Amino acid sequence: MTPTGPSMDVGTTARRAVLISGASIAGPALAYWLHRSGCAVTVVEKAGAPRDGGYPIDVRGTAMEVVRRMGILPQLRDAHVDSRRCTFLDADGGEVASLTPGAVTGGVEGQDLEVRRGDLAAILHARVRDDVEFLFDDSIDTLDQSGQGVDVAFRSGRRRTFDLVVGADGVHSRTRESVFGPEERFHHHLGYCFAVFTMPNTFGLSREVVVWNTPGKAAALYAVGDSDELHAFLAFHRPEPPVDALRNPDAQRELVATTFAGAGWEVPGMIDAMRDADDVFFDTAGQIRMPRWSNGRVGLVGDAAYAPSFLTGQGTSLALVGAYVLADALAGHRDHTAAFAAYERGVRAFVTMNQALVGNGAATLFPTTARALEQRNTMLRGLVTMPSATARPAHSALTLPELAPTP
Ligand SMILES: Cc1cc2nc3c(=O)[nH]c(=O)nc-3n(C[C@H](O)[C@H](O)[C@H](O)COP(=O)(O)OP(=O)(O)OC[C@H]3O[C@@H](n4cnc5c(N)ncnc54)[C@H](O)[C@@H]3O)c2cc1C
Repeated sequence: MTPTGPSMDVGTTARRAVLISGASIAGPALAYWLHRSGCAVTVVEKAGAPRDGGYPIDVRGTAMEVVRRMGILPQLRDAHVDSRRCTFLDADGGEVASLTPGAVTGGVEGQDLEVRRGDLAAILHARVRDDVEFLFDDSIDTLDQSGQGVDVAFRSGRRRTFDLVVGADGVHSRTRESVFGPEERFHHHLGYCFAVFTMPNTFGLSREVVVWNTPGKAAALYAVGDSDELHAFLAFHRPEPPVDALRNPDAQRELVATTFAGAGWEVPGMIDAMRDADDVFFDTAGQIRMPRWSNGRVGLVGDAAYAPSFLTGQGTSLALVGAYVLADALAGHRDHTAAFAAYERGVRAFVTMNQALVGNGAATLFPTTARALEQRNTMLRGLVTMPSATARPAHSALTLPELAPTP
């Protein structure tokens, strides 16, 4: 792709040139649809390659239609993790209830997909890599939209000009920070911290999740397929974010270990495994809520714009649906301001409904008082005898338009 020079929005003879920051879920999905509608697309990713591995994520409801239209449904079905059981334990490791995962998440068995985040990212990347320019191991250093396009200086020293830039760079988006201001303005702490890491599957767990709870604390072991590795998850209630620990891996491990000191079940072994693990990911559970998702020629998509948090299980689905609706809006409007407005109109209500699921997730996974935990356990036992058969309406609340023809 050659630099575009002055603005060349749709409607001129040149193809609209779009730079996307982030090559995980929202980025490659948007790249696919923008390429389909005639844009020249570049994706810049700070990692050296699509990030593999990772915890399992869900694709549900409206997002299933997005992946079907992308032609990747068969590959995703092959990658489907197909967890069979979700077992909840009490403080001593005694069983409270054992359910199908769909009964807990509001997903629909046989219709929804659960895949490793890295598998989804790899499948999306493979779908677009021949049509789209990828710049790995690089990132945007500065953005300047004072001219007729967006002048971008990359960390590598490259300089290019694009018609539009879209940040698909996740919950801690640098694109958002450089164009909209500091993360604190938009990040809403949901009262929990968590650490995820992998550890050896010495328990013989297979295609299942085991969740241990005491008030304000949860520990989970997630066995993806018959893997000899488990995804371990330790989460705890923390009304204010632990600011000092957020950028200090040693302090994070210490905080988790102190919080779970004296806990029962397999938690002591999990803490030991965390200390040995080289892939610990620690963060607070939070949502990104913004009044607008664009500023001039720069827009945001996916977690960067509206992360709903893992408590909803809908982050990936929102990223896929948001990418589709944004591409549709850009295909249908010559003027990028009108396109970004159409994007917001198209997807904001869907985002709001899905972000609102957070209360359900918190109540199920992390009751913070003994009373709330007992109520949760009663609810789970009820689901064993009378499983919920229907999907949560929020998952499917949007009917996708056919992709607009390029004007
Ligand atoms: C523990 C955990 C469990 C989860 N469980 C679920 C679940 O069950 N279901 C579900 O739907 N979702 C779940 N999620 C959320 C899900 O992972 C995200 O919502 C989803 O990945 C969002 O995709 P995204 O492409 O918007 O952002 P991300 O996946 O965060 O990708 C951002 C990309 O941008 C890149 N990047 C970052 N900064 C820069 C930069 N400056 N320059 C260039 N590139 C950059 C990153 O390397 C990354 O590749 C979970 C998340 C976590 C942390």
